[in-house]
Amino acid sequence: MATTDAHRLALQSFLSRGVMSTSEVKELHKKACQTFNVNFENTMECLRNFLEKINENISSVGMEIRSKKDEETGKLMFALVMTNESQLGRLSSDYQKNDLELFKKILDLIVEAESGCVSSTDVLNLASHLKEKMSKQDAQNILSRLIKENWLTESQGEISLAPRAIMELEHYLTDVYEEDIRHCHLCKEIAIKGQWCPCGLKLHIFCAARLFRGKDDCRCPGCKDVWEFEIPSDDRATNSASNKDTANSATTGRKRKDRL
Ligand SMILES: [Zn+2]
Ligand SMILES: [Zn+2]
Repeated sequence: MATTDAHRLALQSFLSRGVMSTSEVKELHKKACQTFNVNFENTMECLRNFLEKINENISSVGMEIRSKKDEETGKLMFALVMTNESQLGRLSSDYQKNDLELFKKILDLIVEAESGCVSSTDVLNLASHLKEKMSKQDAQNILSRLIKENWLTESQGEISLAPRAIMELEHYLTDVYEEDIRHCHLCKEIAIKGQWCPCGLKLHIFCAARLFRGKDDCRCPGCKDVWEFEIPSDDRATNSASNKDTANSATTGRKRKDRL
């Protein structure tokens, strides 16, 4: 399939929105193909081919559309990312130097926290630890902007990395935090948020749900010790909005025993 106006329309949409859910991308794919009379099938394969064609055309300018499961909901997300900037991707050009320093310090906290999330209070307290000090109000404004632009997410006062940040900053994260970054035992992908065993083994919440499906005696696949976390139900990936409250203790990766 040649590159068409349909691909260009989809790319424009990605450029303006940055990150999209699977249903939004499917809708965009359908609309772009129908608008320009391009062959369309409502399948993931057709969608993958369509996105691959866009990627062939934008790789020379250092961009790529990537997909990854949201660590919180398990839903597949798509993002347009910069691939040729070794440091902080598109953040480097969009944010002031001091704002970036704040973001890097937030990353330090998030990566060092086993749960992959930190309280917004801890984030705001970083304002006084920057080389050029910043007011808490300014820090709050930057934090709000980072959340709005899908670099960070906030849930009940806990801040963590959004899928866009993990997709765009994966190289940066594995370079800078070589020692601290863990990969999920099941899917082998980077795992910032998730459930973890004292032996060092980590699982995404949705991967833990898959691994322990139907098991009464849940044990760490590494050290065989009892898995101390609440195991979320397997359907939460498709039903996350309705059971958000009940699943919350599982999504923040908290241990059953000592913190609930
Ligand atoms: Zn996983
Ligand atoms: Zn273990």
